[in-house]
Amino acid sequence: MARSPRTARRAARKGPATDLPALREAIATARLPGAAPQVTEQARSLLLAWLGAQRGTFAATVRALSDGEAARTIAQALIDRSAAPEGLDCAAGCAFCCILPGDDGGTITASEARALHAALTPLRGQPDGRDWHPQGCPSLDPETRLCRAYDARPMICRTYVSRDVTACEAIAEGDARPGTGTLPAQIIHITAQSLARAALKGITLAPTHGLATLAAAALDGQDIDAALRASRHAPTSLDAERRRLSRGLGSAR
Ligand code: SF4
Ligand code: SF4
Repeated sequence: MARSPRTARRAARKGPATDLPALREAIATARLPGAAPQVTEQARSLLLAWLGAQRGTFAATVRALSDGEAARTIAQALIDRSAAPEGLDCAAGCAFCCILPGDDGGTITASEARALHAALTPLRGQPDGRDWHPQGCPSLDPETRLCRAYDARPMICRTYVSRDVTACEAIAEGDARPGTGTLPAQIIHITAQSLARAALKGITLAPTHGLATLAAAALDGQDIDAALRASRHAPTSLDAERRRLSRGLGSAR
């Protein structure tokens, strides 16, 4: 049943959750400023369903919410049950989307960062994507242009698609063009992580990290703790990414 604003405000005053029912309440009443209501409610409902299926301890559940494993599970399930869009140009070895503009190359959660770090650590010392393009993702094989961490690639990589590879090439060179976008699972992923962060306020943090920075740190020999520190985003980054994705709703994907 939908909660009245007064009930939501009362719940919000209760302080940090200390058990699973209180965590459920915190997720049910978490507010995301500037969010598309439909997306927020879909992500909230999926996150609550995920929570309802948990049989572990409160601490384990908090950990899965804070490190993004909950958001990842929800988003991957969405991908698995959705038909792939038709008419995509995407193909193995097509890697303009692995040229990562900006300072750190995209938003990933801590669990995605750990998975990527573990996949890349054995590849230290080998040529990497930066040998192909100055802004190439370090996870990329510069010869084949295949992702060397394919099974561990984060949600942003799993959801980015295009119907026009020339648009991808132009974007990689800094020329904004229509024709690319992300599957709905990506905004659900980011929104679910935002809800988790809001619900965990006062309990623990739910940081995000930069994809390219994390991958570079792993390949440059940093251990996981140092790589997580080096790639850690400012707290405002997750919100900025959610708002950016919200502005793109209804675009190509
Ligand atoms: S998003 Fe663009 S660059 Fe990436 S695989 Fe698809 S068509 Fe190629
Ligand atoms: S992790 Fe893999 S798929 Fe993602 S940007 Fe890097 S090379 Fe491309």
